Amino acid sequence: MSKIVILGAGISGHVAATHLRRKLSKQHEVVVVSPNSNYQWVPSNIWVGIGKMKSEKIYFPLAPLYKKKGIQFKQAKAISFHPEGDKTEQTPYVLSEYVVGNQKGQQEKITYDYLINATGPKLNFGATEGLIPGKNKAYSVCTYSHANHAWGGLNKVIQQLKAGKKAKILIGTGHAKSTCQGAAFEYILNVEQELRKHKVRDKAEVTWISNEYQLGDFGMDGMLMRYGSLTMKSHEMIEMIFEDRGIKWILGAGVHKVEDGVAHYENLEGEHKSETYDFAMLIPSFSGHGFKAYDKNENDITEKLFKGFMIVDADYTAKPYEEWSVRDWPETYQNPNYKNIFAPGIAFAPPHSISKPRKSKNGTDITPAPPRTGMPSGITAKLVADNIIDSIKGGKKSLHHKGSMGNMGAACIASAGFGLTKGSGVSITTFPIVPDYEKYPETQGRQLGKTFGEIGLAGHWLKLALHYAFIYKAKMKPFWWLIPE
Ligand SMILES: Cc1cc2nc3c(=O)[nH]c(=O)nc-3n(C[C@H](O)[C@H](O)[C@H](O)COP(=O)(O)OP(=O)(O)OC[C@H]3O[C@@H](n4cnc5c(N)ncnc54)[C@H](O)[C@@H]3O)c2cc1C
Repeated sequence: MSKIVILGAGISGHVAATHLRRKLSKQHEVVVVSPNSNYQWVPSNIWVGIGKMKSEKIYFPLAPLYKKKGIQFKQAKAISFHPEGDKTEQTPYVLSEYVVGNQKGQQEKITYDYLINATGPKLNFGATEGLIPGKNKAYSVCTYSHANHAWGGLNKVIQQLKAGKKAKILIGTGHAKSTCQGAAFEYILNVEQELRKHKVRDKAEVTWISNEYQLGDFGMDGMLMRYGSLTMKSHEMIEMIFEDRGIKWILGAGVHKVEDGVAHYENLEGEHKSETYDFAMLIPSFSGHGFKAYDKNENDITEKLFKGFMIVDADYTAKPYEEWSVRDWPETYQNPNYKNIFAPGIAFAPPHSISKPRKSKNGTDITPAPPRTGMPSGITAKLVADNIIDSIKGGKKSLHHKGSMGNMGAACIASAGFGLTKGSGVSITTFPIVPDYEKYPETQGRQLGKTFGEIGLAGHWLKLALHYAFIYKAKMKPFWWLIPE
């Protein structure tokens, strides 16, 4: 009999829990620990943030589903890791704290045989002075409640524009090392289209601000891609889209301070500049949660488990950009020191960025962090679950299932306007996510046939279809497992 504890019920944690429960008999325990009582399909927050989808459509309560399926659910957050137990508890455990509104709840030791850390990122708003969702006219769409606030702020500006005022809208990254440019890109396109729908586009100046060196970098060093019969760089495609829609851009910008309607940033030239706005949506930097780890004698062993995010089977040796290899990226997401601990999705520490690191003339690091989007988050969670299932069923440790971001693709379907006939979408498919210069030396590390961009209504339909398919899958409706990650 084994007990598998999963920390987090986001894309990774929920995928792992559902597959474990489906494939393991009920004598094995599957326990999910997560502070949010709801599951949310994060990618659809974009539509919540333009008022086109109610947030209730993208989340549902976990407790009834887990009860029905035989998954234990603790609405709590992990605080510290004790992979050897301690003097009183001889089994590995995680110390967790129950979440009771904003009050501190009771603490509990949750023991495990296998532990899956799927806690994703901490949305590190604190790393940028004044960047607080809903304050200083700056918003976020990273959670459904943030996205609801963002729509409130945007709607106010739209009403002002309708009354004849002019306004400046600023969307992009809110820190020199933010990731998730894809989400901000999707949001700016949707906001721009909404302004046109409300017939106020001519009164608004819309600007993209980002830590990317070039447009279309997306934290993946940009890409050479097919676009129709053409082969072009991703920056050319995004430039074309922005020019077509009259969107301005500021690049190589590390936003470090936000005041009421003003974003202060340093650029790669080392200049300190500011940009005013009436509405901003700025993605914060992502960081680890600051977990601590202790051995059985209660000595601090945090560095054996964490390097910001959780340490897994990546090659963390510090080396220059020219020596980075696709082989630096992890394949099993197993912690090398405690082999019953895994970290799929965003929770694992990447070996380095994917984009070339760049510093400003003052030495400030202004480089997008590597994205770990929904598809790799789901795939890595499923392979971790499959390895645990094989180990339990086979009676010996198995790491047969492997998948690196260097042999995995990502499809970023950025809806660029809502509506079954008037919507639009920009689809960018990349293979692999981490460029493999040995396999694809002629095409800048990517397989051209599988790396392509498309613009059109079909992209919007696909994004909408994925929304319904993934909510269906997450609710574990009949044959949910046939829908791939
Ligand atoms: C606005 C937006 C749009 C996006 N659009 C797309 C898209 O179109 N396509 C795509 O592929 N990707 C998209 N992404 C990225 C995608 O959402 C992420 O890749 C994915 O959510 C990562 O999954 P995860 O499970 O690793 O982390 P999360 O989804 O962040 O889940 C982490 C979980 O851990 C829980 N947790 C946090 N702290 C603790 C703790 N101490 N103890 C226990 N649990 C804890 C959280 O409550 C949460 O349940 C988008 C992201 C954003 C923000």
